[in-house]
Amino acid sequence: MLYSKTHSQIIYLKKTNIKNISSHLTLKKIKFALKIKLMTTENEHVQCLIIGSGPAGYTAAIYAARADLKPLMITGMEMGGQLTKTTDVENFPGYPNGVMGPDMMEDFRKQAERFGTDIRFGYVSSVDFSGAVHKVVVDENKTITADTVIISTGASAKWLGLPSEEKYNGFGVSACAVCDGFFFKNQNVAIVGAGDTAAEEATYLAKLCKKVYMIVRRDEFRASKAMVHRVLNTHNIEVLYNTETKEILGDGKVVTAVKVINNQTKQEQDLDVTGFFVAIGHNPNTAIFKDWLKMDETGYLITKPDSTATDIEGVFVCGDAQDKLWRQAVTAAGTGCMAALEAERYLAAKEFA
Ligand code: NDP
Repeated sequence: MLYSKTHSQIIYLKKTNIKNISSHLTLKKIKFALKIKLMTTENEHVQCLIIGSGPAGYTAAIYAARADLKPLMITGMEMGGQLTKTTDVENFPGYPNGVMGPDMMEDFRKQAERFGTDIRFGYVSSVDFSGAVHKVVVDENKTITADTVIISTGASAKWLGLPSEEKYNGFGVSACAVCDGFFFKNQNVAIVGAGDTAAEEATYLAKLCKKVYMIVRRDEFRASKAMVHRVLNTHNIEVLYNTETKEILGDGKVVTAVKVINNQTKQEQDLDVTGFFVAIGHNPNTAIFKDWLKMDETGYLITKPDSTATDIEGVFVCGDAQDKLWRQAVTAAGTGCMAALEAERYLAAKEFA
């Protein structure tokens, strides 16, 4: 299954402790190990290049492939995107009983491939949007030129920024309960955050773990009422309001506790946990576009009103890379559809110009 490949990628990267994926040799090893379609070394030209493989990218691929644009998709390092790290998705239309995020992305991928999308594992290291034909460098050593580019690079998890969080990352600290919760079966864990992600991951962890402390920095949640209700009705989740993480404690190898402070009373306590999950939001994955495209202060790409078009002709943006407001799989898919239709219209207009 695709998601086991995706999880394998994560596990492989963790095992090999690769933080900066810049070595082409390393990428070749990963691709070989995972039997994912390789990039060829020759340079290529395509009508439509899609960067990223979340709901936005796959939906763009389905529409572009059906319009005979013969899209090439470069998946990025997290094939399938954020939804491969989530559990139940109950609000995506068409799944009346809900669906696991990774299974849903497997369905998206199959549908995109069915219409002929060329899906390749790789990461885009730089772009050059200066000419009429756009240049995209993949895996640092291969240039693809494209008439249209659809950016669907999504967003990545935020971290607290504590040195101890980095020290124990992969050794008790994680930003993905679905990937790593299993390792803390019947143990005590803590999760920081109060949004829908934190609420969802806390309830997921509660099914596996003995006890889950939820560290909430204000006196209320940001999550939707339904999710909060679920958290508050889970017997082994203890919510610590007005509480912040001071430090992740360990024995030098793994996490042994977490020091927290109540920001009202200033009282500190050590939580007896072996796992620490961070679920405090995401940053858009748009750094490689900063010299070319308009973005806001957080890095969300800016599109024209009611459109996925950017100021650069033939370059379109969809999904979480341009959406800081809704950030839902279904809205990402919707903008993916828009991007492909706009790319198709742009190419048709050019042809008949
Ligand atoms: P959000 O931005 O919604 O929430 C982030 C949470 O982390 C907030 O509660 C915030 O606190 C807290 N936080 C941020 N920084 C810190 C920090 N330094 N220390 C402690 N806490 C911190 O992100 P999510 O990832 O939860 O959700 C993103 C979007 O995805 C949302 O629109 C959400 O609705 C959606 N989503 C939907 C799901 C579903 O429908 N099944 C599942 C998951 C996400 P504060 O509130 O104080 O700012």
